[in-house]
Amino acid sequence: MTEPRDPRTIAATNGVAADTSYGAVIAPIHLSTTYKFPAFEKPGPYDYSRLGNPTRDQLADTLAKLEGGARAVVVSSGMAALDLALSSLRPGDLLVAPHDCYGGTHRLLSLRAARGHYAVAFVDQTDPAALEAAFARKPKVVLIETPSNPLMRVVDIRRVTGLARAAGALSVVDNTFLSPALQRPLSLGADLVVHATTKFLNGHSDVVGGAVVAADATVGDELAAWANTIGVTGSPFDAYLTLRGVRTLFVRVEQQQRTAGRLAAFLAGHPAVAAVYYPGLASHPGHALAQAQQSGFGAMLSFELVGGREAVRQVVGRVQVFTLAESLGGVESLISHAETMTHAAMDPEARAIAGITGGLLRLSIGLEAEDDLLADLAQALDAVQAG
Ligand SMILES: *Cc1c(COP(=O)(O)O)cnc(C)c1O
Repeated sequence: MTEPRDPRTIAATNGVAADTSYGAVIAPIHLSTTYKFPAFEKPGPYDYSRLGNPTRDQLADTLAKLEGGARAVVVSSGMAALDLALSSLRPGDLLVAPHDCYGGTHRLLSLRAARGHYAVAFVDQTDPAALEAAFARKPKVVLIETPSNPLMRVVDIRRVTGLARAAGALSVVDNTFLSPALQRPLSLGADLVVHATTKFLNGHSDVVGGAVVAADATVGDELAAWANTIGVTGSPFDAYLTLRGVRTLFVRVEQQQRTAGRLAAFLAGHPAVAAVYYPGLASHPGHALAQAQQSGFGAMLSFELVGGREAVRQVVGRVQVFTLAESLGGVESLISHAETMTHAAMDPEARAIAGITGGLLRLSIGLEAEDDLLADLAQALDAVQAG
């Protein structure tokens, strides 16, 4: 039989009907922590579940294929995945990171730097002069997050990974916002891809998990060994649920981004809205680049209210279909306020540099009917205007 190559087929069926015990079409969950040795001095394929587990391996194999990598390591959260991907950094080494990265990532890098584990330079990676100055400092690793959170700035992956390779630096891309359904950073020159599988890959807001996918098998093996050493590998139950989510990744994301595009256009025309950040809008500064390096514009967008933080208070108090909550990528639509929620851990100065203001709201679009979401936003925004 020929190996399926289309990522849709891989997502839906990788590892299906492979059970040799009972012919189960859907592979069972292997919850056992330990495995029987067939004989003295003869371990089987598995010995202990921190190191290796069939359920977790099936998810890892699927993610590696979807990203076009040699090996994936499935860990217990997106933060664990980021920390693992950056684990080659030594004291004195420089990491170049986005100035507007995910709030938890900003905290991780800042605290690691404060403890002397490595140095970090937060840089606007859409600014060529800032990038050039950062590379002049000879970084060991470059972290890219595109589109960025929450302002949806689009970074040229091929350009930055090219600069990294020329400088002898490892390049790491956080692909959480788009998932491999819409962007494949390894094909654009990245060495490692990081995911919070918590988001679109699982897609049902019931697992916190992460993964690192390596382009190179040796690098992947080293990361897997370190994940086992520090004990951050993901649980089999979480892996089972995440793989179940991955089965429908493409259809979910396709529907979600279609609705997101419609909502972005609606918001752009509303008088209570000062600005809309969605790469699918022709007015977005990263529109052409997104069109070139992504295969869709995604289901995340943010917008700025004319009335600032007071208007935010009114809107989040009025929405009924959207839920006021952090996180993203689930089947339910969420609305969040970066300043007081996702990016509250960032110090105010860093927030200001990243462009996160009191009037900024972020939407994660789910699978509700588009008309219900539109009507919900319309009634909330119209009320602000009237008030
Ligand atoms: C959520 C998120 C993370 C962190 O993932 P957790 O699973 O919450 O630890 C990292 N990067 C991005 C872009 C995220 O959205």
